[in-house]
Amino acid sequence: MAKIEAAQQRLYGGVFICKTCGSKIKADPKKVADGKAKCRKCKGSALRTKKKKTGKA
Ligand SMILES: [Zn+2]
Repeated sequence: MAKIEAAQQRLYGGVFICKTCGSKIKADPKKVADGKAKCRKCKGSALRTKKKKTGKA
């Protein structure tokens, strides 16, 4: 479990995107999962993880 969390942290770098205004938020994934992380811009708590780029067009 901890291993997967560490891998996700590495992949996403704890960066989330606000679904409401689209701004980037750096937050602890655990806080986001608990709904405790909020967007600084619009104060919304609807966040999604930053999608990993495939590297292909
Ligand atoms: Zn926002």
